[in-house]
Amino acid sequence: MVYTQLLHRREGGRIRRFVLLRPFGPGIEIDDVHHLPELPPYDAERDIVPRTPQFLQHELQPDERGAAGQPGLPVVGGDLSVGCNLSGACCSQYPVIPATMEESRRAISTLHRFDPHGGGPGKPEEAFAPATPGKPDMLTPIFIGDGCGFLTSEGCRIHKLGGAEAKPWTCRQFPLQVIHCGDHFEVSILPQCACAARTVRRQPGGDWPRDPLRGLTTVPEIPEQVAVDERRRLPRATYLKWARALSDVLAAPGLGEPVRVLDSAVQSLGIPRAELTPEWLGELKTRMQSEAERLETYLHPAGPQPKGARWVAGIAEALLREPAPSPVPAASDGMVLSLALRAHLLLELPTLAATLRDLTRIARLAGLARAIAPAETADARLETMTLLLYLWATTRWPVASEVTARS
Ligand code: SF4
Repeated sequence: MVYTQLLHRREGGRIRRFVLLRPFGPGIEIDDVHHLPELPPYDAERDIVPRTPQFLQHELQPDERGAAGQPGLPVVGGDLSVGCNLSGACCSQYPVIPATMEESRRAISTLHRFDPHGGGPGKPEEAFAPATPGKPDMLTPIFIGDGCGFLTSEGCRIHKLGGAEAKPWTCRQFPLQVIHCGDHFEVSILPQCACAARTVRRQPGGDWPRDPLRGLTTVPEIPEQVAVDERRRLPRATYLKWARALSDVLAAPGLGEPVRVLDSAVQSLGIPRAELTPEWLGELKTRMQSEAERLETYLHPAGPQPKGARWVAGIAEALLREPAPSPVPAASDGMVLSLALRAHLLLELPTLAATLRDLTRIARLAGLARAIAPAETADARLETMTLLLYLWATTRWPVASEVTARS
């Protein structure tokens, strides 16, 4: 299924507009958002199928939603929390940042009230544009350079002038995610947030929003039976217990190297170990090179995603060329992988076996990448583990289910 989004970038005094073929297709420059040209063929099925997630989409019911800002089902949070270290990476990572008309009006009035002389290029009224063809009510900030037009070296301009309340809800909520687990909601943190690895810490309770369901009509749901591989299934309650235990071990300092912990989990499920084979590294290099080219059809080449994809291609090439160096672990790797398990990234592929093998490869690659060239050397906004997780989730990174299917 192809769907489209619109990206707008202010460049050299004019605004360039692109229609993006989603989820992993190219961007095509257009003149007029109201009259789209004929779009090139794009086989979205081919890109989606290897990564069809186990998550279901759950429509929130009135009794689950609750009343007076209180959810109708219990809310469970993890004991890890993250903050924002103003890296600005997430404000440059996603090409479309959904905002409603009301949110854009609030942001514009904040800019007028606190910054009447205009601190940024263009008038505040021209800071937002449609996010989706044919839907004028859904907006997105116009990009300037390689990120959101409101992003400054001191963080978000709207936030700085008007406080967190003045920002679109999507920005306030990121990187929190609410998951429906049958009889309760789980509030977790997406580990693809570039600030996560730099700020993640143990802090029971975390700084959860009082009304985590606000603004949501659907949330991901864990299925009643979770697929371990093509033959085996786990009941939801058993999966949750297992995933939380694995997450706790990964977050506990001194309980083992993350790669070793993931390897044992892979072994305990009786699935093949995930190695960085030359075949896989070759595929990673080719895909990341073509991803960088695809991303540059609509993003600034200095943006974190094209740079990140080129960086991964370079790491894969170095590992193919020379003997692997000794991995350099980071203290936060286990914590970030723990966030990934708490956010149920294990359900992002058709089987737990496939995702666990991918996460193990990512953990291996992160240590080796730091020994060759950490992501921060390519772009100060990036961080090795979170960048790898981000690219895995958002690009045509070769996933274990494809490799299994071919071999
Ligand atoms: S509006 Fe602010 S928080 Fe949202 S993406 Fe832009 S800079 Fe980031």
